Amino acid sequence: TTRGASRPPPSYLSRELGYAEPEPTPPSKPKSTSIPGRASLQDFQFGSTLGEGSYSTVKLATSRVDGKQYAVKVITKSHLIRAQKTETAAAERQALIRLRGHPGIVSLYHAFQDDWSLYFVIDLATNGEMQSLLSRLGSLSTRCAQYYTAQIASAVEYMHSKDVLHRDLKPENLLLDDAFRIKITDFGTGKVLERGEQRATTFVGTAQYQAPELLELKETTKSSDYWAFGCVVYQMIAGRFAFNDKSDYLTWQKVKKVEYDFPSGFDAQAQDLVQKLLVHDPLARLGAGPKGSPNDPSALKLHPFLSSIVWSSLWTDPAPPIE
Ligand code: ATP
Repeated sequence: TTRGASRPPPSYLSRELGYAEPEPTPPSKPKSTSIPGRASLQDFQFGSTLGEGSYSTVKLATSRVDGKQYAVKVITKSHLIRAQKTETAAAERQALIRLRGHPGIVSLYHAFQDDWSLYFVIDLATNGEMQSLLSRLGSLSTRCAQYYTAQIASAVEYMHSKDVLHRDLKPENLLLDDAFRIKITDFGTGKVLERGEQRATTFVGTAQYQAPELLELKETTKSSDYWAFGCVVYQMIAGRFAFNDKSDYLTWQKVKKVEYDFPSGFDAQAQDLVQKLLVHDPLARLGAGPKGSPNDPSALKLHPFLSSIVWSSLWTDPAPPIE
């Protein structure tokens, strides 16, 4: 179907997503509204497709205002309704607004819509996904793994300080910018915790990275992101999943028993770190304890595997050789 033939979506969708109703505009101008920044579709020149997700297409776009390049996540409203993903888009937008400003998390510059689509204008990550890097290199050098472990730890600490859970941390959702620094993306499964709220109870995520408490108690907390983080650290060094089997069901059996092993040659300090993250009891995981406790985020930063990291210049120093 052509765009012109599509019917505008029901207005409740705009309200549900937290957008203003599209302004009536003269027929000569394309209709679009903008929240939170003042921008609209006409401000961008669209280029190639950077990637396709399950509910969006991500396009390269150049701003006609500042000349900068961005990634624009285009989410078709009719698809959102069909796939019952309106909550996903709303969650993603809400989390990104809450998290704006940290170098390790994609920034949302503008969110606007026209009759057919939602548009999220975000940081462009020119070096693609960590997953592609791992597929290309197999695994990362110890130095590189230390660097990315530190960057992910720093971004997750910030995210949690803003009471946002990611709930689907994995190498596909860790993008790399032009300087090969991490940018965490895909907050479609993100959850902004209300005041005093500690846990989320929807079943989301990816089997290889899902924590035992999600499988056993149907709940996710900040600590569950630290479990997934442990799985990512393992994978960057081992070049394979910590937990994986022929089916999700079989993978989950291993997760519940914390059944995994280290390949020979796995860095001893990294092994110690992973063993302190992949702990069945969420309260005992390194990084996941309350501020001031022996396993709070600062204890994670003090782990010997990260002793060479200069935390004050983590986001400004050049990345180590990517190997
Ligand atoms: P899913 O929920 O299925 O993971 P999605 O619809 O939320 O997908 P994303 O995963 O956010 O979409 O994006 C789809 C793809 O587009 C990504 O896998 C990545 O390759 C590319 N992409 C996403 N964001 C950016 C970005 N900021 N810069 C460069 N490429 C990006």
